[in-house]
Amino acid sequence: MHTHTAIPCRKGCGACCIAPSISSPIPGMPNGKPAGVRCIHLSPDHCCGLWQQPGRPAVCNSLPAMLDTCGNNFGDAMDLLTKMETATAPIFIAARTVVARK
Ligand code: SF4
Ligand code: SF4
Repeated sequence: MHTHTAIPCRKGCGACCIAPSISSPIPGMPNGKPAGVRCIHLSPDHCCGLWQQPGRPAVCNSLPAMLDTCGNNFGDAMDLLTKMETATAPIFIAARTVVARK
């Protein structure tokens, strides 16, 4: 099974804005965020409020959605990213392509 397969980021998922820690500053969160804490820029419908804005952390633009980190749904992604965070903290943040609100 080719789990390192790039997949389209699921609009309205946002698991990678909650499950992993982020060590770099985020506007309004100068120390980044701990694992399991929702980024303050994640909208109620789970889209990035900083999409294409200069303050968006570089890590959020860096890597594509992958089957082995995002799974098939939000629950999968929360489980997979939480396990990776626990195993490798600080996590290799695998997926930061959260789609824009449209
Ligand atoms: S990159 Fe993955 S975990 Fe993040 S929002 Fe997209 S599908 Fe969800
Ligand atoms: S993609 Fe947006 S909402 Fe998600 S962690 Fe980064 S800044 Fe926060």
